[in-house]
Amino acid sequence: MIRVSQISDTTTWLHRIPLFGNMGHIEVIMNSTVLVLNQNYIPLHLCSVRRAVVLIHRGKAEMVEAGLGLLRSPRHTFPYPSVIRLGQVVKPPLLHPKLTRRQIFIRDKHTCQYCGTETRDLTLDHVTPRYLGGRHAWENLVSACKACNRRKGGHTPEQAHMKLLRPPTPPKKNGYFPFLLIPQIHNHPAWLKFFPLGTETMLPPH
Ligand SMILES: [Zn+2]
Repeated sequence: MIRVSQISDTTTWLHRIPLFGNMGHIEVIMNSTVLVLNQNYIPLHLCSVRRAVVLIHRGKAEMVEAGLGLLRSPRHTFPYPSVIRLGQVVKPPLLHPKLTRRQIFIRDKHTCQYCGTETRDLTLDHVTPRYLGGRHAWENLVSACKACNRRKGGHTPEQAHMKLLRPPTPPKKNGYFPFLLIPQIHNHPAWLKFFPLGTETMLPPH
């Protein structure tokens, strides 16, 4: 059993986890997120701390960046992994972003698609309202600020005399797969350097 024996400091996301609590809390830490880089250092995926420790221990991956603190089992002490790199190039899986509020906001760069305001306080708007047959689909969902959502009410943009900045489309399929990891960077700013320049512009505004 690996235990969290020492946490020398805290990070934003660790603040939310009581560090020296019961086994349940340790479970939370072991299930925390580690960034997995491909052998070519391109972000590939996320895994749990538990999985990362196993991969390192089996020689399948190396630690690129340690997190804070140590994990200790009866026979071994492991630095707490934050970023690991696989020993082999793995073909990135074909990933299709799930249709979620968050992914819609990311696609729309956290900008209201009616008035262009950039805000964290967005709502999800069905362009054609559902009761008029509008689908819950990438092509019919946009980010809208609260004021625009109120103004639009249960109408179509035409009825409400509102215009979309651009027609909503599905995100690129596997065009840029680390795209899917972007929401996680928000909780792990130290990971940003592993992502291409400009990624930070896709993060929610502060
Ligand atoms: Zn708006």
